[in-house]
Amino acid sequence: MAQTTIDTDRLAQFDAACHGDLIQPGDSDYDDARAVWNGMIDKRPALIVRCAGVADVMAAVEFARDNDLLLAVRGGGHNVAGTAVCDGGLVIDLSAMTGVRVDPEARTAWVQAGATWADLDHETQAFGLATPGGVVSDTGVAGLTLGGGIGHLRCKYGLSCDNLRSVELVTAAGEYLTASADEHPELFWGLRGGGGNFGVVTGFTFELHPVGPEVATCLVVYPGEQLGECLQAYRDYVRAAPADVSTLAFAGVIPDEELFAGDERDAFKIAFLGCHAGAVDAGTRALEPLREFATPMADVSGVMPYAEFQQLLDEDYPDGLRYYWKSLYLDGLSDAAINRIQYWAEAAPSPLSTVDVWQLGGAIADRDGRESAFAGRHAPYLLGVEANWEAPAADGANVEWVRDCLDDMRQFSDGSVYLNFPGFLEEGDAMLQTTFGPAYERLVALKDEYDPTNLFSRNQNIAPSG
Ligand SMILES: Cc1cc2nc3c(=O)[nH]c(=O)nc-3n(C[C@H](O)[C@H](O)[C@H](O)COP(=O)(O)OP(=O)(O)OC[C@H]3O[C@@H](n4cnc5c(N)ncnc54)[C@H](O)[C@@H]3O)c2cc1C
Repeated sequence: MAQTTIDTDRLAQFDAACHGDLIQPGDSDYDDARAVWNGMIDKRPALIVRCAGVADVMAAVEFARDNDLLLAVRGGGHNVAGTAVCDGGLVIDLSAMTGVRVDPEARTAWVQAGATWADLDHETQAFGLATPGGVVSDTGVAGLTLGGGIGHLRCKYGLSCDNLRSVELVTAAGEYLTASADEHPELFWGLRGGGGNFGVVTGFTFELHPVGPEVATCLVVYPGEQLGECLQAYRDYVRAAPADVSTLAFAGVIPDEELFAGDERDAFKIAFLGCHAGAVDAGTRALEPLREFATPMADVSGVMPYAEFQQLLDEDYPDGLRYYWKSLYLDGLSDAAINRIQYWAEAAPSPLSTVDVWQLGGAIADRDGRESAFAGRHAPYLLGVEANWEAPAADGANVEWVRDCLDDMRQFSDGSVYLNFPGFLEEGDAMLQTTFGPAYERLVALKDEYDPTNLFSRNQNIAPSG
């Protein structure tokens, strides 16, 4: 069982052996260190170990195991369910480990597991290279990649996890391993989509691709009354779009102060966002149809540095706001599904919330699904339901809106979900079995081998069979 008091002699020995910082309740930096991106999360760990390197991670895993402490692992701290922290246990905090080393000849980047996408993009773009990340740059590389990784380059270059060459990690037994196609290949399979179940990752090696430095981008907003015809046109567009194009649609009030004033600001809208991973002229032409679905309320499409595009949404997701997000893979975008998307987007209790439709397919679907544990390659679209709000008094209404929307939208889905948008992790095992299908048993076998006592449980947890 997890405990909340730690033997002081053991703690002193551990402290002496660590090069990083140990942070405990009462320390001046404790509240900052336990805060994560989602303001809904308020966990009070007994100990936060801000690791300086692999040796600290090994020592912290051993310390948690030997003292029977609940363990959480923090990469970028952006998991919506707040799995980076825990009550009463130990947090392995990797946020000081942000090193990136690019090999421009080999077109690879080695990155430490506390880095954000902004850290990685900064280094790779210096060489005109990139690997697929997420669409908000202060999200952690680690959590996002281990769960899959769906970003602006996905249809051209696949998921973040598809671009992994190798992963370095510390297992529950305290062993330091490299997993790749050649070393521990089964573990490498599970790490690509199976989340933080198998160890503490300390470093990733990614494949890089020539991208930018400038790319053609699209951000166009239409009146919400035209949501139906816009999403129908989007469905046709996506079918014919070149693989360089990765886009998403989002519906909501989108009260952007720079783009809208007065009544327009408070009106319901439908927007399309995306980029083209290739040459800017071809990209501008390829994105053009997205800008002609109707008469736009705003159109800020254009050519911009890829690194800047990666940061375009950052300020829309500030630390400390209240968030509750879930997802569902969609079988398609039928007229009936579009109708329900309109209904739910208009019903959102908060003007900051959106219902999102992510285009999938392309390089994601082209991969052999058996190569990695990631479970969403079959779907043409991912539905994201994002409740974003400010007042604690509105918690119930916002959470209920997401859950009701998901319940309704299941009629357009096989029920599988993207595990990086986990709500509060309330569905548990049944949802994991639905999502992973036949791969679930293979993941359990891997968990039995690498973490039989479930030391790594603060995640989309694959429970060991014992
Ligand atoms: C604003 C925002 C935008 C997002 N945009 C996208 C997007 O475009 N595409 C997308 O695919 N997802 C996106 N996500 C979801 C994102 O993938 C998840 O929230 C992910 O968990 C974030 O990773 P993190 O390292 O920041 O999280 P953390 O909260 O630090 O970690 C989450 C979990 O990942 C595991 N983990 C983290 N680090 C390690 C490690 N080093 N070793 C082992 N396990 C580890 C642990 O289980 C941990 O509990 C977004 C999330 C947010 C908040």
